[in-house]
Amino acid sequence: MRPPLLNPLFAPVTSLAGVGPKQDKLLRYLLGRDETPRLVDLLLHLPSSVIDRRARPKVRDAVPGTVVTLEITVDRHRPPPPRNSRAPYLVYASDDTGDVVLTFFRAKPGYVEKLLPVGAKRYVSGTLQMYDGMAQIVHPDRVVDEAAFAKLSGIDPVYPLTEGLALGALRRAIAQALQKLPDLPEWISPEVIRRCHFPPIEDALTRVHVPIELTDVLPDSPFWSRLAFDELLAGQLALALVRAQLRRPAGNRHTGDGHLRKKIIDALPYALTTSQQKAVAAIAEDLRQPVRMLRLLQGDVGSGKTVVALLAAAAVVEAGKQAALMAPTEILARQHIKTIAPLAERAGLRVAILTGREKGKERREILARLEAGEIDFLVGTHALIQDDVAFKALALAVVDEQHRFGVRERLALTEKGEAVDVLVLSATPIPRTLVLTYFGDMDISELREKPAGRQPIDTRAVPDTRLDEVIEAVGRALSAGKRVYWICPLVEESETVNLTDAEARFKSLQQRFGGQVGLVHGKMRGADKDRVMAQFAAGEIGLLVATTVVEVGVDVPAATIMVIENAERFGLAQLHQLRGRIGRGSEASTCLLLYREPLSEMSKARLKVIRETTDGFRIAEEDLRLRGEGDVLGVRQSGLPGYRIARSDVHAQLITQARDEALRIMKENPKLAGPRGEALRCLLYLFERDEALPLMGAG
Ligand code: ADP
Ligand code: MG
Repeated sequence: MRPPLLNPLFAPVTSLAGVGPKQDKLLRYLLGRDETPRLVDLLLHLPSSVIDRRARPKVRDAVPGTVVTLEITVDRHRPPPPRNSRAPYLVYASDDTGDVVLTFFRAKPGYVEKLLPVGAKRYVSGTLQMYDGMAQIVHPDRVVDEAAFAKLSGIDPVYPLTEGLALGALRRAIAQALQKLPDLPEWISPEVIRRCHFPPIEDALTRVHVPIELTDVLPDSPFWSRLAFDELLAGQLALALVRAQLRRPAGNRHTGDGHLRKKIIDALPYALTTSQQKAVAAIAEDLRQPVRMLRLLQGDVGSGKTVVALLAAAAVVEAGKQAALMAPTEILARQHIKTIAPLAERAGLRVAILTGREKGKERREILARLEAGEIDFLVGTHALIQDDVAFKALALAVVDEQHRFGVRERLALTEKGEAVDVLVLSATPIPRTLVLTYFGDMDISELREKPAGRQPIDTRAVPDTRLDEVIEAVGRALSAGKRVYWICPLVEESETVNLTDAEARFKSLQQRFGGQVGLVHGKMRGADKDRVMAQFAAGEIGLLVATTVVEVGVDVPAATIMVIENAERFGLAQLHQLRGRIGRGSEASTCLLLYREPLSEMSKARLKVIRETTDGFRIAEEDLRLRGEGDVLGVRQSGLPGYRIARSDVHAQLITQARDEALRIMKENPKLAGPRGEALRCLLYLFERDEALPLMGAG
């Protein structure tokens, strides 16, 4: 239960004066929420910059083009002539050095009269312009009287906005929300407060929204940093709580005598790489231990994670238990089952797939067999965590591409068994510092080597003015029986962005190459996608036009050529993932990056990195260097994905400090008891990291 103390902050924004249904909708969009945002969401929406209104020159000395605050007396009004409503409403004003015109377009009747009564003294702020030799301010940002002016610092925050939402309206809403701020307990330990010079939370929130110095709203100010630390601590503590749950001693050890694993390894048409062997051994050891496994298996695309996952599953099946593998998309789930099924069959392991597509009788049958223990290893999507999916004895949960799943989903799968061991697969090489942020403390196995026999990929960047040549080259490759991916960024034609649309490209290539061309994109039905993919895998189609749905996991070793259109639009990590679809067989592969000129310096640097290396870890590091973590995970945002306030560049130090603090809390007060525990619960609720709390009951 949320501490009642926080209730005022969880009131809907529509409870504020001036926030109606229209603002509700705009704020939902701005703050990325499906439902009406709460006051806390407004307060955690931090300024992107400030306007400095402290310059207070006399009219005569005001510099055109700058923001000034003038102290003036209102002399006379000139409303627009009756039949010309497009003419502006002018207000003539002055100080003892000169005259200034205040200009209002489409002013509501009575508005300007009330704002600037003749003879009154006012403080007027805005950008000064010269018009016909006359000083002028069009739509002053701020017009206040002496009393109101005394309360202003002269520095106004500027917020990220969305179309239709006025800055003033957002400011007024945030100012009201600040008034509702309750007296919050301190959740950070005194040592950290002292070491980092953090102000109290109320001061931090107040100063970023009502800055006194220009630097107050910078991410490295003590105020912003305190909020970033709070956010990071909430994240780390939530991960630690989940982990503590998962780390409860496992009653039974989940591993057998190795007979199934031996059968699978014997059936493999290849030898396991050294790092695969190491990972398999580490997992077997984890499963033997009387604590639960929590292990991250990181490996670049094509490094062979699936077979490691299968061997882990086989180990628990040997002990009479079941395993499940959850993938984020249907294509990926089917890809896994395709790799797994033939090997499993040879070992007598019973596997099945469950996604949104298995329905009705088919689904009921799968569920019945699962509950009866007649399925050993179930592969699927989110469909696995639906309420009515029950296992007889789930002992191992493998979660693929985990950063797409939330804590809740991870827990939901592990709750379907007792003391379930967890293996997370990630194809995104994540620098170690970030592993912490996304996964918390986990044991890590890395698959650093590529399976033997892989050919290097020749990667080239080509301007799209040479599209015709590229199409000719693709034609020659098709005649030679090669298989080609053609990647386009978008599905539908977009008026605003001049990108090649997959459907349009498909049509034009089809005209040229006829039935050899197929199309697959994210908006197609699952069955249709699979059919096209299967045709491509079987060689019935030679040229597959696709959007990024082929980004992860899709495995057609015979495909050796990839053309990526508008390559400059993709993130590095995404380009790397895409390219990982080729170079999987024994033949040399080619990747053509088509780009549109002119290229920005950043795009040039990115394409260069991609051309020079296929080492995913190096690419991840370069990406980090070039743009910050957002793009490492293919998420386009300036901060850390999942974090609103913390920035990886500015607050890197704070990540480890927050983690240390979380670990110390777990050691000293794992039940979050007493006043500090109560304060920490507040923190978890404020940053919506309270998911793990119900698991631990009342404190
Ligand atoms: P990813 O790590 O991207 O999930 P996969 O598990 O899909 O990689 O493996 C990619 C391909 O490599 C598959 O076709 C798989 O059969 C093959 N493979 C896996 N391990 C080896 C190995 N040790 N030697 C050769 N091929 C391998
Ligand atoms: Mg895979």
